[in-house]
Amino acid sequence: MPTARFGPCPHCTTQLSFLEGVNGSTLSPKCPRCHEVVSVQRATFLMADNSGPGTRRTAVAKVT
Ligand SMILES: [Zn+2]
Repeated sequence: MPTARFGPCPHCTTQLSFLEGVNGSTLSPKCPRCHEVVSVQRATFLMADNSGPGTRRTAVAKVT
């Protein structure tokens, strides 16, 4: 069963949805914003998480 979790890109800190077990999942997904490879433990599909209310659950200190 596909699962989703949320977190920041380690490169550009964009909020991402990590979708595990969906079509297009890969072990070396690329961030849709900065196009850097994000290392994951399981096959994951990355989506930018900026498209709706209630998605920013992870508090991340923004580096300015
Ligand atoms: Zn990124």
